[in-house]
Amino acid sequence: MLMEKLTADKQGYFGKFGGNYLPDDLKMEFDRIYKAFQEAINDVSFQQELNYLLKYYAGRPSPVYYAKNLSKKYGADIYFKREDLNHTGAHKINHSLGEALLAKRMGKKKLIAETGAGQHGVATATAAAIMGLECDIYMGAVDIIKEKPNVDRMKILGANIVSVESGTKTLKEAVDEAFIAYSKEYETAMYAIGSAVGPHPFPTIIEHFQSVIGTEARAQFLEQAETLPDCVVACVGGGSNAIGMFSGFLEDESVRLFGVEPLGKGEKVGDNAASITYGKEGIIHGFKSLVLQDEEGNIQNAYSVASGLDYPAVGPKHCYLHEIGRVKYDVITDDEAINAFYELSREEGIIPALESSHAVAYALKLAKREPNKKILVNLSGRGDKDIEFVMKYKNTMTK
Ligand SMILES: *Cc1c(COP(=O)(O)O)cnc(C)c1O
Repeated sequence: MLMEKLTADKQGYFGKFGGNYLPDDLKMEFDRIYKAFQEAINDVSFQQELNYLLKYYAGRPSPVYYAKNLSKKYGADIYFKREDLNHTGAHKINHSLGEALLAKRMGKKKLIAETGAGQHGVATATAAAIMGLECDIYMGAVDIIKEKPNVDRMKILGANIVSVESGTKTLKEAVDEAFIAYSKEYETAMYAIGSAVGPHPFPTIIEHFQSVIGTEARAQFLEQAETLPDCVVACVGGGSNAIGMFSGFLEDESVRLFGVEPLGKGEKVGDNAASITYGKEGIIHGFKSLVLQDEEGNIQNAYSVASGLDYPAVGPKHCYLHEIGRVKYDVITDDEAINAFYELSREEGIIPALESSHAVAYALKLAKREPNKKILVNLSGRGDKDIEFVMKYKNTMTK
């Protein structure tokens, strides 16, 4: 019963969110992608190939780890789902492998994707390399300079980097230009979306490929703790790691789910990327979502210290889960995330991604607010990419 409501309807809506607002020719292509996806996930050979890659290439299953030191210090039982241990350092490889395998099955020759900080670009370039596909990554000229290590990684992996020179030369323009290129090449190329966003059927496809997180975590938690967690926490950018984790627990009524959005520098428009908390209904990049916008409906720039979280909208299913109250969405500031970054590093010897640090920060707050709970946190990625930045940031922190 519940599950039926939590699946997109025929037009791709979760409640009033989602859908597909694309021109007719692309809409037909997206229908073909959906059909190919449904056939693929019911095809044993596709499942076997994907499972093989997840296990022997990406390193799944990622463990659930009981954080003894933090638990003792904060008075709760805190567990981490270790997506940081995956090949390429985050959960993104889960959906990138799925999308690339689907592209190959459809006879496509190329993956097209946009990237902001470069994480999605690296995961896509990796999947393209192993699947023998060409790969065009659209990236703002400003981001290309800022994110040199990831640009170099993508080049080494054989991807073609397309520099985007329009507008603010960052993620939003990269999405626009990647999509224009795709609309000319869709017969031979596949768009590889980087989160549980975009027009139907991509939110559904991404959730499916990320649901491995929640399926594994639920079984692993039961085995270790002999009960379900009281609370499950994940950070929300576009929402892929969170929806993957939550999907394992949506039907467990006793399990409270928390999605953590970036409050950045504060509540002011342009200072954060908390789309559910501050967004209003609107259409962006071909789907209906909660969008950060001004009174006239102009889409606002999103900001977070964690560049993987700074998208001005969010996956449609999160909007719906917020509306029906199944998931509580709350916020964490830049400073709180940086403090949690250090706390996890010092107490447990795990350096988390700044994105994941938002979830860690919230879990520690939750532990203090409600003692003795069992809290499962999705550690979506590792912090290697953030080290240089954090060293500089700490120096400028006034506190
Ligand atoms: C990209 C990224 C995120 C944010 O993306 P979601 O789709 O919201 O999961 C979170 N954590 C890490 C480590 C990332 O690289």
